[in-house]
Amino acid sequence: MNIKYDLIVVGGGVLGTFHAYHALKKGLKVALLEKDQKPQGATVRNFGQVVPSGMNTKWQNFGRESLKIYQEIQSEFDISVRQEGSIYLASNEKEVQLLEELHEINNANSYTSQLFTKDTCLERYPNLRKDYIKAGLFFPQEVIIEPRLMIHRLHKYLITEGLDIYYSTTVLECDSLHNGVHLHTSSKDTIVAEKILICNGSEFKVLYPKLFEESELEVSKLQMMQTKPQLNYRLKGSILTGLSIRRYEAFAECPSHQAIKAEEAKDSLVKKWGVHILFKQAADGSIILGDSHEYAAVEDIDSLGFDSSKDIDNFILQESKKIFNLPTYEIQKRWLGFYSQCKNSDIFEHTIDKNIHIVTGIGGKGMTGSAGFSKANIDKIFNLQNA
Ligand SMILES: Cc1cc2nc3c(=O)[nH]c(=O)nc-3n(C[C@H](O)[C@H](O)[C@H](O)COP(=O)(O)OP(=O)(O)OC[C@H]3O[C@@H](n4cnc5c(N)ncnc54)[C@H](O)[C@@H]3O)c2cc1C
Repeated sequence: MNIKYDLIVVGGGVLGTFHAYHALKKGLKVALLEKDQKPQGATVRNFGQVVPSGMNTKWQNFGRESLKIYQEIQSEFDISVRQEGSIYLASNEKEVQLLEELHEINNANSYTSQLFTKDTCLERYPNLRKDYIKAGLFFPQEVIIEPRLMIHRLHKYLITEGLDIYYSTTVLECDSLHNGVHLHTSSKDTIVAEKILICNGSEFKVLYPKLFEESELEVSKLQMMQTKPQLNYRLKGSILTGLSIRRYEAFAECPSHQAIKAEEAKDSLVKKWGVHILFKQAADGSIILGDSHEYAAVEDIDSLGFDSSKDIDNFILQESKKIFNLPTYEIQKRWLGFYSQCKNSDIFEHTIDKNIHIVTGIGGKGMTGSAGFSKANIDKIFNLQNA
């Protein structure tokens, strides 16, 4: 094989796929290479919450752009997007204060949010516990997607738009030569492109292992659970609770955030396991519950192991039950997810020999930020900002 592309994207997760999408929209000839039969990284293991409300100002802008892009694609092809809004539920006066402050910040940014009283929250979110809820902040424009479906459907759609996808194809090496970058794959093919974009998620052992080991990237391991389908029960949108209010970057921009964080116990299980409690109803009526965060540097990824901790699951369940009296907390599935992030910056970007671009480490904001970020990044990489 010796096909020549304008761009080859390595990695069929959400970040790579949206880069391919925007490059196609610019009229470029694009291929996507994915090592697995179908993507099965962070992009299919997550909650599917598209929540610009939780991001700092820079990423909220990318997230808002992502909302438009998801809706635009959904209007042409069903990729499982549902606009049901996101709600942050406060459990005490300090969290209420943060909600009020975030509401003001979003007013100033012209991003719609509505403060809900305790009663409105109880009315709109069935089985929410009266002894938990104090107030809520609702973002009506935000959407949810089904992570186990979305990326596969998006690939199908992009194939009809002219994208070439090669599954079960691991990229083993990239060589910059005079006539473009030559990509050597596990199928023993060489594919040539003007530019290569590597969106390898948290896979650091194949391409440029030394570069990644020396970088500030780290990997987070998350535990997730899914209940059995809830009978005659409907929970709409993304539900984020008090611990998320304390954890999400958006709230760090609130005036009282620092003082409230300073009062938190440093040695709690919440801190030890990085737990915050999220709920989202899946298409089969079950509730997805999570999550926890354990971290390791790139050179030490294997220390994260492949077991899920029963203690963490039990803790998440115990905390969830303080928030919602769900009809059932019987668990049908448990899984682990891994994503990469930078210790000190919001994303990892590195260019080799002008035409090999690495973009990864988008952290916990990939389903929200990737579509918007990659639009700007394709313009930057192909120098199209002013085109
Ligand atoms: C449990 C969990 C919950 C989350 N919840 C949310 C949420 O609700 N909202 C949100 O915004 N974000 C969420 N995130 C974060 C989000 O899922 C990630 O930021 C995002 O999926 C990262 O996408 P990615 O494309 O960078 O990585 P991945 O999805 O891991 O994709 C990388 C792909 O590259 C492929 N690859 C790697 N190396 C090669 C190679 N050499 N050759 C070919 N292919 C290769 C891999 O096989 C993989 O398919 C969550 C993450 C987890 C784990």
